Amino acid sequence: MRNVVIMGSGCAGNTAAIYAARANLKPLVISGHEAGGQLSLTTLVENFPGFPEGINGPDLIENMKRQAENFGAEYLHGAVVDTDFSTRPFRLDVDGEWIETRTVIIASGASARWLGLKNEQKLIGHGVSSCATCDGFFYRNKNIMVIGGGDSAMEEANFLTRFGRQVTLVHRREEFRASKIMLDRARHNPKIKFLTNTVVEDIYDAVNHLVTGVRLRNTRTGKSWEEEVDGFFVAIGHIPNTAVFKGQISTDPDGYILPQGGARTNIPGVFHAGDVQDRVYKQAITAAGAGCMAAIEAERYLEAEGH
Ligand SMILES: Cc1cc2nc3c(=O)[nH]c(=O)nc-3n(C[C@H](O)[C@H](O)[C@H](O)COP(=O)(O)OP(=O)(O)OC[C@H]3O[C@@H](n4cnc5c(N)ncnc54)[C@H](O)[C@@H]3O)c2cc1C
Repeated sequence: MRNVVIMGSGCAGNTAAIYAARANLKPLVISGHEAGGQLSLTTLVENFPGFPEGINGPDLIENMKRQAENFGAEYLHGAVVDTDFSTRPFRLDVDGEWIETRTVIIASGASARWLGLKNEQKLIGHGVSSCATCDGFFYRNKNIMVIGGGDSAMEEANFLTRFGRQVTLVHRREEFRASKIMLDRARHNPKIKFLTNTVVEDIYDAVNHLVTGVRLRNTRTGKSWEEEVDGFFVAIGHIPNTAVFKGQISTDPDGYILPQGGARTNIPGVFHAGDVQDRVYKQAITAAGAGCMAAIEAERYLEAEGH
């Protein structure tokens, strides 16, 4: 029987593990298929406090993990594939083996949607990004491309005009899902160029590990052409990783956990941390802060129950 099982080994899960381990709760962290979470995909992180020169994402994550392990946290490879939160103790199926626990911290994140292009994954952190707040600063006076047609694409494009020489917004349709106010703001921004009815067919240059350009195609005329690009931002949404407890933990229509005050979910003893609940900020530091909150709440919950 575990006191605390943490689902996910990103910033939120690792920070929850540090706090829970220092509270002597011997937490078990289930790493998930993406050990280290989203930061393990990227290169330099310049906005996590405490690192004036920046730090590589995978190093930051590895440091957090070592810090948690130093205080007694355990890590288990594998993913939670099923859950039963209907009775106590809670039960989590980790690749076929059921684990029992008094509390659960869900820190399973929200995965960015990608376009699925051949070179896209290879170039993440080398010009391909899903986060303007995180990476916009690297593209001062550069050519930036944003893909998407919703509010987040408009917001990212507007934000990126603070840095880029030009921002080209590429959308596969003529009509936009974005709200009128966001669309108007982008349309009135002289630095944003719109390319509608256009899809991206390829990103270069995977061989040299750096984004230098893209091949585009107009879906109406069939014409394809190449453009020089330095920063390629995919803004087509995120998928919260909440499928394994669907119907048990309350979520909004997009699958993000609905918070019930602090780090609480609708089930007492099950807490949330990080991007799995956060559709607004989605930063390493906010996820880490949320991990801290969830661990403190789990510790107080166990204390109140006499454990
Ligand atoms: C390319 C890129 C660059 C970024 N750069 C920055 C930056 O410079 N600065 C910044 O502040 N933020 C940055 N971010 C955002 C930041 O990475 C996220 O906000 C942060 O990682 C969220 O942490 P999290 O722990 O909530 O979720 P995640 O990091 O997404 O971690 C989720 C964890 O849950 C696990 N998991 C999922 N499903 C299951 C399951 N069923 N069972 C068990 N485990 C599961 C996954 O394997 C993973 O370990 C970047 C994101 C990306 C994609």
